[in-house]
Amino acid sequence: MAYRWPAGTAFKRIDLDVEDRSCPVCERYMHVCDHRYHHLWTFEGPTQIVNRLVRCPAPACDRQGCTFSPATALSISMPRWCMGWDVFCWRGYRRFARPWSVPQLCAE
Ligand SMILES: [Zn+2]
Repeated sequence: MAYRWPAGTAFKRIDLDVEDRSCPVCERYMHVCDHRYHHLWTFEGPTQIVNRLVRCPAPACDRQGCTFSPATALSISMPRWCMGWDVFCWRGYRRFARPWSVPQLCAE
């Protein structure tokens, strides 16, 4: 079930780019072909991650049609999760190292 954000939520925007824009096969400069938006909770509040996806423009390249996304997106959160690693670790520590109950975690 997808998380429903309250109406009017103000997000902090973080733009992510692919670190190496050269194609791994033909070494041509890859162009931005699409954007992937990911909304999640972090300790800084509601956050919008904008991933700029790139693709090789060479029609004869073996990787033509393959989309590359920024690797740093995984350092912020898991794909399709609604919380960042910081919130996930905070909740996990309190749930398992300290035996906080789920209602206590949600209230905090
Ligand atoms: Zn290529």
